[in-house]
Amino acid sequence: MPDDFDEISGVLDKLVEELLAKCGIDRPPIEPKKIADALGLVYDETELEGRRGQSYRRYGRQHVEIHRKDRPERKNFALAHEIMELELKKVLDDPRESHRWANLGASFLLMPTPWFRDQCIQTGFDLAKLKKVFTTASWEVIALRTLNFSESIITIVDDDRVTRRKSSYPFYVSKRLSDEEKHVVLDVLQTKKVQRQHFPSCEVTGYPVFEKGHKRVILRTTLDETGYVRDSSETPEGQVRSNGE
Ligand SMILES: [Zn+2]
Repeated sequence: MPDDFDEISGVLDKLVEELLAKCGIDRPPIEPKKIADALGLVYDETELEGRRGQSYRRYGRQHVEIHRKDRPERKNFALAHEIMELELKKVLDDPRESHRWANLGASFLLMPTPWFRDQCIQTGFDLAKLKKVFTTASWEVIALRTLNFSESIITIVDDDRVTRRKSSYPFYVSKRLSDEEKHVVLDVLQTKKVQRQHFPSCEVTGYPVFEKGHKRVILRTTLDETGYVRDSSETPEGQVRSNGE
């Protein structure tokens, strides 16, 4: 049973490489529907209660059903999840573990490690440019995947509320937005444009991901190692780097 990220990453990278080779896909974007077809999966879209996708065997064929009403990127992710879950079942010692790793697997399939890493470096982790290459993945999934390749903080702000905040720094990062980040969110909302701003303690880039009646801003924050301003409500000890530097 894989229990750490490096171990499961190795398994997922290998599965993805094999799938892409089998399906003759040699560059992004990755269309999971093409992979499902190449694998002989019977694909269908239906109304699913409380879930995005499911799969089952019937008369010797593997069926995959995806929730019909979801946005295209959600469908892609759900299908990628089902594909990777089926592949993981073949290689994991405990097949019951396959669902648990399938979301991570979906992210690896839509953004294969070597291609995504190259594009991250080429674009300087510009989420808008990455979205143009990995078109089948959502902004959120792309943003979170960059955490595998750099130290940064990704924050999802929906209608002025933080709905997700993840850091790849090896030390504690406050769950709350810094003043600098709040400033960038406001500028993105006002200008409806990408904002990249440099501060003494950090660099913050904000991306508008606006949909009908819903204003999402995605932030990518990189901290200046020496000038990071601590949240005033927290003790300095809470921010000491865990790796002892
Ligand atoms: Zn699953």
